[in-house]
Amino acid sequence: MIVEMRKGATKEEVGAVVQKAKTMDLDVQLNIGTDKTVVALLGSNTGQIDKDIFAVLPGVESVTRIMKPYKLASREFRKKSTVVDCGGVKIGGERIIVMAGPCAVESEEQLMQAVEGVKNAGASIIRGGAFKPRTSPFSFQGLQKKGLELLAKARDKYGLPVVTEVVDPYDVEMVATYADMLQIGSRNMQNFALLTNAGKSQRPVVLKRGFACTITEWLTAADYLLAEGKNQVVLCERGIRTFEDSIRFSLDISAVPVLKKSSHLPVIVDPSHAAGHYSLVPAMAKAAVAAGADGLLIEVHPNPKEALVDGLQSLSISDFTRLMEELRTIAKAVGRYI
Ligand code: PEP
Ligand code: MN
Repeated sequence: MIVEMRKGATKEEVGAVVQKAKTMDLDVQLNIGTDKTVVALLGSNTGQIDKDIFAVLPGVESVTRIMKPYKLASREFRKKSTVVDCGGVKIGGERIIVMAGPCAVESEEQLMQAVEGVKNAGASIIRGGAFKPRTSPFSFQGLQKKGLELLAKARDKYGLPVVTEVVDPYDVEMVATYADMLQIGSRNMQNFALLTNAGKSQRPVVLKRGFACTITEWLTAADYLLAEGKNQVVLCERGIRTFEDSIRFSLDISAVPVLKKSSHLPVIVDPSHAAGHYSLVPAMAKAAVAAGADGLLIEVHPNPKEALVDGLQSLSISDFTRLMEELRTIAKAVGRYI
């Protein structure tokens, strides 16, 4: 339930709403805007609560029930679009943010070559996997802690923030000491223990869409992060499983405008994991920018043929550089820049 306070409502009036909610065993989240304060009342039984209990309190303008399963991620709770700060890079503003780098960190040489290449081409955040969630336990699982150390080294050398995946709820704090932003992968979108721990960390989080999850399930999973008081969450569409087998996953471009309408959170698109093949990545990346995405997450490898993971879908540095040029034109056409 959303209690919207009147413009200029006093602290005491907001406090009285919070107090009343607490006596009813409800959780409370405040969105203190420059104009108005919105109080979200959360709990499993809000559907049974009489709205008038709050509507009659001084300073209250309106009380609405959010009928959707997700609450804090909804536009009803926060009308203004959220801007996420990743090590000084703002995601969700006019600038389209490109995060690029190898699927997995393999060696210092490989990572530094990739980062130098993507930085020169205009990427503003380094991506790289240290912990790899692999379908088979016999596949390369990532360099783990050594990979994190190399990512931190690349950040120091090239001055770009780092996003990397965390797969274990107990590793959140450790990964957060190396990374500027945590990535929760498709396979872990509904790992609620991981979401809760990531929500408690100081770092912003990229939440990838589960490849068999609806947008509603995705936004409801985002509520787990937001419920911990974190408002720094970015959603990443990365393709879903459909009957179509000519690509790895079907990129749901429509998720971009749907999310823009129903949520205040920034939306980025990962064309690489959907495409599964480097030749398809540019068209899908351009479509994402044209559709209104706030950023892209792209796999780039200095030598894709030698990559230990996802080489087939990784762009070479020269292909990535060409794509960045083309993306600038698309961004300009939709009133944005890279
Ligand atoms: C990744 O970005 O490295 C990754 C594993 O992606 P996803 O979780 O979308 O499969
Ligand atoms: Mn990958």
